[in-house]
Amino acid sequence: MSHQPEPRHLNVLNPATAEVLATVPAATPADVDAAVVRAATAQRAWAAAAPADRARLLRRFAAVVDEHVEELALLEVREAGHTIGNARWEAGNVRDLLDYCAGGAERLTGRQIPVAGGIDFTLLEPLGVIGVIAPWNFPMPIAAWGTAPALAAGNAVLLKPAETTPLTALRLAELALVAGLPDGLFQVLPGEGAVAGNALVEHPGVAKIVFTGSTRTGKHIMARCADRVKPLTLELGGKSPNVVFADADLAAAAAAAPMSFLDNAGQDCCARTRILVERSVHDRFLDLLAPAVAAVVVGDPSDEKTMMGPLISAAQRDRVRGFVDGPGGDGPPDGVRTILGRAPEGPGFWYPPTVLAGVSPEAPVAVEEVFGPVAVVLPFDDETDAVRLANATEYGLSGSVWTRDVGRALRVAQGLRAGNLSVNSHSSVRYSTPFGGYKQSGLGRELGPDALAAFTETKNVFISTEA
Ligand code: NAD
Repeated sequence: MSHQPEPRHLNVLNPATAEVLATVPAATPADVDAAVVRAATAQRAWAAAAPADRARLLRRFAAVVDEHVEELALLEVREAGHTIGNARWEAGNVRDLLDYCAGGAERLTGRQIPVAGGIDFTLLEPLGVIGVIAPWNFPMPIAAWGTAPALAAGNAVLLKPAETTPLTALRLAELALVAGLPDGLFQVLPGEGAVAGNALVEHPGVAKIVFTGSTRTGKHIMARCADRVKPLTLELGGKSPNVVFADADLAAAAAAAPMSFLDNAGQDCCARTRILVERSVHDRFLDLLAPAVAAVVVGDPSDEKTMMGPLISAAQRDRVRGFVDGPGGDGPPDGVRTILGRAPEGPGFWYPPTVLAGVSPEAPVAVEEVFGPVAVVLPFDDETDAVRLANATEYGLSGSVWTRDVGRALRVAQGLRAGNLSVNSHSSVRYSTPFGGYKQSGLGRELGPDALAAFTETKNVFISTEA
């Protein structure tokens, strides 16, 4: 009789309907072992290929993704509940990043350093096989942020998507083969974090881990990597401030605030969930914010007019509700003004847009990452107080400053301990600019002009000219 364990499967649900979309086999440690062997073989040939050929293949991969943007976007709508508009942007982000990084394959230059007695230069060599571990909140772009620069720099990639959202990743791996990328160079291993994810982290054949996810899991992975002195990039949680000064265009600030924390139903590491408003305009700002929140269209994510879809799962919805209703489940305490938007009822993991004003700055909802459509509004007294309050968090991923005073905008941007700031806007992510967190929001940077360098080792070579 065989004592083989039952193969495990992942059930992928449509979060807008709670129906099972697909069942996907979960990778085992043995699957990871086999994938590492194939990836290592493919990587050696890839690294030896002419940089122009690598660039050409990656551009072809971008072109194939471009031909499938609509298909990928619809898959993202179905497995992650993203609005169709967002999902199209996400598939386009994968294409654009592949294109951008492809150019880097031919521009990954070392340096020649003046020294006595010879010539000294550096080589930027690929690391080998890279393990990319992605979360469920932006399955496609985040998978690409690790994968595209790693491939361009001459590495192979093993991508482990989140348990709930493996489908776009699996499709991207198929498209890579259609584009002509070598077999084994980019493989997707759907599976459980503690099994397939852990196997990548522990594997001696995996040279670096790129992890995006919760700070808790990130710390655990960092500790595991320490055992092997394995380098890693961490993109973790956030609790980002949106600082609104009295001299700002208040109508514009209030109009923009809802989508800065409701985009992707608030399941966004950059969500501006702490709205800090100068005390003299606090109440007026709330009066402007309330109709803007009510105007957010929540519903079927495949409808073009929808601005916010469902949460990813029932468990996530319960967690979000716990932050708003408190430990006793009684709802926000007396004296808290609640601004509510509308959400559908019935099947699916819906939660309405929610803003709480008048909560304590130490309340869990004001301090912890909720990862749902919930923000708090907190007053501040002056510029110094604003910077103090904005920085009073263990996170430091992003933030926004609304003011008409250019000097103040620059002072506050310099004062904030966060990696991605925007003034009079809420933009965080462009493939051509660096992205990453201060403090417990992360380690290292992705995207931007230096993205490929994070997937190289620097070798210094000295050649004596003294015969
Ligand atoms: P998570 O930490 O639960 O899981 C992330 C990934 O890690 C998943 O693929 C999971 O399977 C895997 N994993 C879990 N345990 C593991 C282990 N022991 N070893 C190896 N892999 C393991 O996070 P999540 O809930 O999927 O994602 C939400 C979190 O991600 C939020 O905190 C959010 O802020 C953060 N996030 C950060 C960024 C950023 O760029 N800074 C971007 C998106 C999301």
